[in-house]
Amino acid sequence: MTIATTTSAGLAHHKMLLNGAWIDAAGGARIDVVSPSTGAVFATIPAGDAGDVDRAVGAAKAAFETVWSRTSALDRGRILLKAAQLVQRDHEKLAVIEAMDTGKPMTQARNDMTAVARYFEFYGGAADKLHGDTIPTLDGFTALTIREPWGVTGHIIPWNYPAQMYGRSVGGSLAAGNACVLKPAEDACLSTLALSALLHEAGLPPGVLNIVTGTGEAAGAPLTRHRDIAFISFTGSPEVGAMVQRAAADHHAGVTLELGGKSPQIVFADADLDQVLPVVINAIVQNAGQTCSAGSRLLIERSIYDTFIPKLVERFSAITVGSHEADLSCGALMNPKQKARVEGFVKRAEAQGLPVLARGRIAADAPPGGYFVAPTLFGPVSAQSELGCEEVFGPVLAVIPFEGEAEALAIANATDYGLVAGVWTRDGARQMRLARAIRTGQVFINCYGAGGGIELPFGGVKKSGHGREKGFEALNHFTQTKTIVLKHG
Ligand code: NAD
Repeated sequence: MTIATTTSAGLAHHKMLLNGAWIDAAGGARIDVVSPSTGAVFATIPAGDAGDVDRAVGAAKAAFETVWSRTSALDRGRILLKAAQLVQRDHEKLAVIEAMDTGKPMTQARNDMTAVARYFEFYGGAADKLHGDTIPTLDGFTALTIREPWGVTGHIIPWNYPAQMYGRSVGGSLAAGNACVLKPAEDACLSTLALSALLHEAGLPPGVLNIVTGTGEAAGAPLTRHRDIAFISFTGSPEVGAMVQRAAADHHAGVTLELGGKSPQIVFADADLDQVLPVVINAIVQNAGQTCSAGSRLLIERSIYDTFIPKLVERFSAITVGSHEADLSCGALMNPKQKARVEGFVKRAEAQGLPVLARGRIAADAPPGGYFVAPTLFGPVSAQSELGCEEVFGPVLAVIPFEGEAEALAIANATDYGLVAGVWTRDGARQMRLARAIRTGQVFINCYGAGGGIELPFGGVKKSGHGREKGFEALNHFTQTKTIVLKHG
């Protein structure tokens, strides 16, 4: 299968996936793919539209009815397990694709590919362990439940972690027995195409997975409106998430939404500060802060503010930003729009008089056309300010002092978001009190993240969305329960 052709100018013309074939959009239009590290166009992708979406959904529906719904859970799982091995085989090649496409440093792209292999492994292993129950009911009756796939699921993913989002979303849905149509982000989708080729090499039948590349309006919106899409898994902005949910409601499709956050890291005076420092910094510079679960609010107990901040400033000032190839701790932002958005937050915070505690630097040899922004540490920041409440989606950290547990909790819960929180304290009772009281989908205690968290249900409350991706729980979303009752006397 040829997934791309190369022009005489050296540009890779990628294709999209319909019914097992690599094709152009029917309309022939293309979208440039730009390297965030250099600002240069290095590839193109098809600009799919409603007609392409309709064909993709039709192919998925046919493949579901004729092949995939008759494929045993064991065989579905084996395809994913084989794909996990192929991702490991092509690990470095895939990491290069992802780093070039997103601007993320090579080490982070390699970690992402390790996570994708793990998603395929996890869901491959889980496919034949998803089962129903028998339920005690009236005398003379036997009641049981089975878990059934929806049929055709639609997947819309963003540009920040294309490969990981693909692995968790498509991996879980295929394991559960659905056929899929994926609309990746127009800014970064090359790894999703390469990974789809590996799934087919692993034995995935044609049509079970289809990819329509293109913009949100031209390709994403028709997918959400399509009446043969029974369930939609969306990750992206709250604004588009709301549009997706409205479109899904019109044809009664199920939805999970993962919409970002303003996640607090709460550091109490009794925390092990040497452990805290590298983790809180990584939580905001990883992927240049373009992470839904970025630890973007750092809540510090006032009694240690004056001792903690100098240590934080020293480390933060040492952060250097550069191209994906330079492989520093922080890479470029995704596109000029994202760069302008992040710079806008920084300028407005400065204009409001919020003190800049530290700035990282852009490497002297960073390509001049790259979308680089110096990481910025602000503090003290008021919890009610824009920087204290709004998701920046960039390497900007807001330090917010607090006095005691009650105020820490009030600040943690004060934003519209509720995705993840970190709590740093040695006090066991406080750990559990806060874990229960903080309104988020995940709480980490004396840590933040857990190796990609493949096994851990992930998602938010409030503006962070609803439903859960990752872990075994995602399989409950990718299926529906059927109850069967037999009267036998
Ligand atoms: P977005 O929500 O616009 O895009 C996410 C995905 O939705 C992309 O594939 C896009 O093509 C698609 N899309 C856009 N409009 C659509 C529509 N009308 N119907 C269906 N699909 C549509 O996000 P963005 O433009 O990539 O980023 C904007 C902001 O969103 C960021 O600054 C950040 O705050 C947030 N964001 C959050 C996450 C996350 O992981 N939660 C990821 C990316 C961006």
